Amino acid sequence: LDPTNENFSPEELDVEKKLRPLSFDDFTGQEQVLENLQIFVQAANLRSEALDHTLFHGPPGLGKTTLAHILANELNVGIKITSGPVLDKPGDLAGLLTNLEERDVLFIDEIHRLSPIVEEYLYSAMEDYRIDIMIESGPNARSVQINLNPFTLVGATTRSGLLTAPMRARFGIQSRLQYYNTELLTTILQRSASILDVPISMEAAIEVAGRSRGTPRIANALLRRVRDFAQIKGNGSIDIKIAKYALEALNVDAHGLDEMDNKILSTIIEKFKGGPVGISTIATAVSESTETIEEVYEPFLIQQGFIMRTPRGREVTELAYKHLGKIKGPIQGG
Ligand code: ADP
Repeated sequence: LDPTNENFSPEELDVEKKLRPLSFDDFTGQEQVLENLQIFVQAANLRSEALDHTLFHGPPGLGKTTLAHILANELNVGIKITSGPVLDKPGDLAGLLTNLEERDVLFIDEIHRLSPIVEEYLYSAMEDYRIDIMIESGPNARSVQINLNPFTLVGATTRSGLLTAPMRARFGIQSRLQYYNTELLTTILQRSASILDVPISMEAAIEVAGRSRGTPRIANALLRRVRDFAQIKGNGSIDIKIAKYALEALNVDAHGLDEMDNKILSTIIEKFKGGPVGISTIATAVSESTETIEEVYEPFLIQQGFIMRTPRGREVTELAYKHLGKIKGPIQGG
C-alpha cells in the first residue's frame, strides 16, 4: 500500500480513475481550498477568462490530480497532462503549449522536478502567453515569437520548498492540501463503496478510514483489499468483523502507520536514543531517500504527534514509544 501511486498495477490505476470525483460537489474535505477555488472558477467563467495559474502542494494521494481534473470540468475546458520529469526538452513543452485551446488546463505533476531550461521556458508562457521557438538551423537559425491561447497552468508538488522562487511567484492561486480526518475518509469510503457496488457498514467504514493514514488514495486501496476478503471469506458485504479480520491480515496497524512509518520510529528510538537526529541520518538508517522521508512519511508522523521537529533534528514523542510498546530511557538506546 504505497502512498505514492508508483507501484500500482494498470488495473488498480483504472479503479483509481473510476473513484475520482469529477466536480466540486463530488469532492469531500479540503473545505477552505474548495471554497476559494469555487469563487475563482466562477469569476473566471463569468469573465470568460482563463483561471489564474494554480499550484497545489501537499503529500501524495490527497487529491491534487483530482482537483486539476475538477478545475478543467468546472471551467468547461480541456486538460492536458504531463509531469516534471517527463518534460525534459523545451521542444516537448512547446508542442503541448501550442496545442492548448483557449482557457484549457495544462496539468504538470511533480512540477518541482522540471529541468531549469524547461522551467525558464515556461515563464514567458505563463506570464505573457508567449513563447520563443527556434526555427531552421545553422546560419539561418532564428527565434520567432509565437502567441499562445490564454491557458491555466495547474502545478502539483509534494514539496513546494523545492520550487524556485520565480516559479512559485507565477502562481496566482496556491493551495496546500491537508491530511483528511477519519470522518471525511469515512464519507469518501462510502462513496467509493457505492461506486464499486460493495455494501459496507458504517462501523466498518470508520474502521478502515481510521487506518488510512489520512489519505484518500490509501483508503480506497484498503477498501479494494478488504472487498477481496469480504468476497472470499464472507458474503460479499463488508461488516466490522470482516474489516477487522482483513486489516489484521494486511498488517495495517491501528493508527494506519505503514511498515516504513514504524521503521522510522523504531530506528530513531533504537539507534538514536529517541533523537534528536538529522533527517538524512534517519534516511540512511532506513535505506530510503531523504526526499521521500521528508515528503511522504514525516508530515504524517508529525501531524499525528509521533515525531517533533526541533532545531537539532527529529525527536520521537512519548506517543511513539507507547505505540511501539517501548519504554523511554537510557537503557533502550544501548
Ligand atoms: P495526488 O495527485 O495528490 O497524489 P490524487 O488526486 O491522484 O492524489 O488522488 C488519489 C486518489 O484518491 C484518487 O483516485 C481519488 O479518487 C481519491 N481522492 C483524493 N481526494 C479525494 C477526495 N477529496 N474525495 C474523494 N476521493 C478522493
